[in-house]
Amino acid sequence: MKITVDMAKCEDHGQCAIAAPVAFRMNDDGKLEHDGEVDDAYLDEVEEAADVCPVQAILIGA
Ligand code: SF4
Repeated sequence: MKITVDMAKCEDHGQCAIAAPVAFRMNDDGKLEHDGEVDDAYLDEVEEAADVCPVQAILIGA
């Protein structure tokens, strides 16, 4: 699946990195880094990350 994060919305809360560390992580500056494409086997946790994002910045594509 493809993952897009609206960085204009993202406030670097980090919940996504806890829910789906396979795709999301916080860098040394406390900023979100994410992969643009993740194996579909991780769909459940990536969906969980999108659900817990307080500003709904995560979009999951096909
Ligand atoms: S949970 Fe949402 S706001 Fe927080 S770092 Fe992830 S994408 Fe950004």
